[in-house]
Amino acid sequence: MALAEFELIRQYFNIDALTFERTGIVLGPGDDCALLDIPKGYNLALSVDTLNEGVHFPAGADAYQLAQRCLRVNLSDLAAMGAEPLGFTLALSLPDVSESWLQGFSQGLSACAGNYRCSLLGGDTTRGPLAITIQVHGLVAAGQALRRSGASVGDAIYVTGTLGNAALALPYLTHQSGYELADLSAEQRGFLQVAFYQPEPRVDAGLALTGLASAAIDVSDGLASDLGHILQASGSGSGSDSDMAALGAIIDTAQIPLAAEFAGLAAAHDALPLALGGGDDYELCVTVPPQHEAQAQAAMKALNLRFSRIGEVIAGSGIMLRDANGESQPMRLSGYRHFGGGDNE
Ligand code: ADP
Ligand code: MG
Repeated sequence: MALAEFELIRQYFNIDALTFERTGIVLGPGDDCALLDIPKGYNLALSVDTLNEGVHFPAGADAYQLAQRCLRVNLSDLAAMGAEPLGFTLALSLPDVSESWLQGFSQGLSACAGNYRCSLLGGDTTRGPLAITIQVHGLVAAGQALRRSGASVGDAIYVTGTLGNAALALPYLTHQSGYELADLSAEQRGFLQVAFYQPEPRVDAGLALTGLASAAIDVSDGLASDLGHILQASGSGSGSDSDMAALGAIIDTAQIPLAAEFAGLAAAHDALPLALGGGDDYELCVTVPPQHEAQAQAAMKALNLRFSRIGEVIAGSGIMLRDANGESQPMRLSGYRHFGGGDNE
C-alpha cells in the first residue's frame, strides 16, 4: 500500500470517532490483525455484506448516506440473531481518492457506529470499482442466539416497524421515469431517503426478543422470501429431521404494517406487493410461541416500537394470504418477486 493510503486510513478511519473502548476488544486497527477476547459464556456472532456500486446502491450515491446504509444493514444481521454489536472491519475498494468523499463516508460511518459503540477494528483499502465490504462482530450469550430454525406450528408471526418503504423509495432514488423526486414534498423526499439509506437496525428489539422469539430473520429480500427462509429452516424442508412437519404460514393482509407516508406515494394497489415482496427494509420478522406473546408485545412496547402480529405458522407448505373477510388463497410468489432485491444479494 502506498504511503498516501496509510495517511488516508489514519485520517479517516483510525480516528477516535470510530474507536470505542469495549470489553472484548484487545487491539483495534494498526497491526496485522485486530485482537478480540470473547467474554466467557458468550458466542461471537459474525456476518459480512458487500455493497457494489450500481448493483446494491445507485451509482453516484452520497458517501455519507452510503456509509450509513452499509453499516446499518450489517448491524441488522446482528439484530436478527439477538447479538449485541461489538466491532466491525471495513474493506474499501475505491476508484480514486477523493478527500470530500472520504470525509463524508467517514462521518456517516462514525454517526452510525457511535450509536452502538461499535468499533472499527481494521480493514483493507484498495483501488478498484467502488465496493464496500463490512464484517460485523457481535456478542450473544451462549445458546441464546435467535436462529431461523426454531419456529413451530401455532407460533404467531410478528414484524417490527413498517414494510415496503425501501422498495417504494428505489424507483425515485434511481430516477426511473414517472418517479420524480422533484415532484415530492420535502417530507416525502426525506422519508424515502431515510427508508433506503438509513434503515434502523433493530438491535434493541433483537436483544429483547432473545428467550421469547422461537425464530428470527431480518427482512432484507422481502417478507415473503425471508419468512420463507424461517419456514424452510424450521420445518422438514431443512432436511435436518425427517420427523419434522413441513411448515407454512397464513398471513393476514390487513395486518401488514404500512407507513403513513405510503398512501400518498404509491398507488394503493401497489402497497401490498411492495410490503410483501419489497426488500431492504431490515425490519425483524419473528415467530413467537403463544405463551410468550404477551411478554414479547410488552417488550416491544417498552421500546416504543411498532410490533404487528401478521399471521401464524401452520402445517403444510407455502404462504397463504387471508383477507379481511377471512378468505384465503395461496400467495403467488412470482407476482412479488419483481419487487424484491433478492437477485442481487
Ligand atoms: P496488511 O498489508 O498487513 O494487510 P494493510 O496495509 O492492509 O496491512 O493495513 C494496515 C492497517 O490498517 C491494518 O491494521 C488494517 O486493519 C488497517 N486498515 C486498512 N484499511 C483500513 C480501513 N479502510 N479501515 C480501517 N482500518 C484499515
Ligand atoms: Mg491489507
